[in-house]
Amino acid sequence: MSSTMLTTAIGVITAELVKECHTNTDHQNSSRGGEFSIDYAFMTREGAVEMERDMKDADKVGATPILVGCDHQSKAVWAMATSTKGPTDSAVKWLTKKIDQAGYRGIKVVLKSDQEESMMALKRAVAIVRQAPTVNIESPVRDSQANGNAERAVRTWAAQVRTIRHHLEFRMQCKVPIHSPVMTWLVSWAAEVICRYRVQANGRTSYENVTGHKGLQPVAIFGEKVMFRFTPDKTNRRTMETDWSHGYFLGINPETTEYLIGTHDNIYSCCTMRRLEEDRAFDATLVKDIGMKYSDYVMQGAKSSPAEIRPAEVGQPVPAPGGDPVPRRAKLNPQDFERHGFTVGCPGCQQIQLKSPHRKNHTEECRRRMEEELTNTSEGQVRLERAKERLDTKVAEMGQAELDKQANDDKGPTTEHEASNKVEPQHEASHEFEPTA
Ligand SMILES: [Zn+2]
Repeated sequence: MSSTMLTTAIGVITAELVKECHTNTDHQNSSRGGEFSIDYAFMTREGAVEMERDMKDADKVGATPILVGCDHQSKAVWAMATSTKGPTDSAVKWLTKKIDQAGYRGIKVVLKSDQEESMMALKRAVAIVRQAPTVNIESPVRDSQANGNAERAVRTWAAQVRTIRHHLEFRMQCKVPIHSPVMTWLVSWAAEVICRYRVQANGRTSYENVTGHKGLQPVAIFGEKVMFRFTPDKTNRRTMETDWSHGYFLGINPETTEYLIGTHDNIYSCCTMRRLEEDRAFDATLVKDIGMKYSDYVMQGAKSSPAEIRPAEVGQPVPAPGGDPVPRRAKLNPQDFERHGFTVGCPGCQQIQLKSPHRKNHTEECRRRMEEELTNTSEGQVRLERAKERLDTKVAEMGQAELDKQANDDKGPTTEHEASNKVEPQHEASHEFEPTA
């Protein structure tokens, strides 16, 4: 099968993979430690995102503060809307966690910011919570190249916020209120999108630079209505497996790579999600259904099991053409490598040898070698065969979907009602990813 076909069928929105033109060394969270810039931005009453230092005090009235961080090494951007500036519980917890996730747990870091009191108080609080050397540097001047890179990353994020918001408003045919909880999720997801899908000078994304994983699992569009299924619980498998619920895609938990799905009653974390047909994929009730802010989620986490009693869902899940995740390839276990040896220079093999709890992907070369080895045992053959079947089925489905789509397109355009309050998209949405085929 061709990878082009997979890309066409699964690619969610049009592409704009931008190569950042600055140089970037590989992420090595060695003894050198990490360096981060932290800033406040605001979402103004008009819905624009502006950096605090570019704003007049009067413009900040009624605006939502957004804490923005940038990892100088990986160029990753993080963003969280807050109720107020300074060391709130959620801001301290979130920032500490982001530094850990960037690979600096227990390692010295430098936090750079301006000299504003609420910012300095936040950094002092993070330094205490981290229990690792945390050097706080305040400077009114932003002239070094590293700061320039951070600045660029933050501006890219602000543009992404605008893009996602316009796309969502266009699809729902209604505005997303500035102070709605949905907006807090959008702000954070816009940063995540850049980390995951924007390719940098070294040919990798920030997410790859940090984790070594591609991180390109197929996702839905922000705010899209999806069907999701809770991760089956061994003690309750029978009921779980048939239980699909409706919710809205709001992001990905970077630690578990599970999808974060918002519903009218909570935020759920799940591994399985299905997209709906195009005309049902966006629903303006999103805005009033989502009641939990991103900062509340930072404090409480997401639920991973359903509420005790839920209303029954009507109807069967509809597989969207090409919208389902790509089937997984045969799973390779640490035992396989212990038996057949490690590939020199393969990050996946290194992690196994280090007995690290953090798994990394094996190189394509390593994977091929191991799949070759698996063909020599009957148990291995079964595993490979199963993975192949999953892929073949998927490709067949997608091929059919493409044919159906072409047949539909040949019938010519269908008539559309012009809604009077139609929102025009100002930009084409611009995040694309490739499937991990
Ligand atoms: Zn390997």
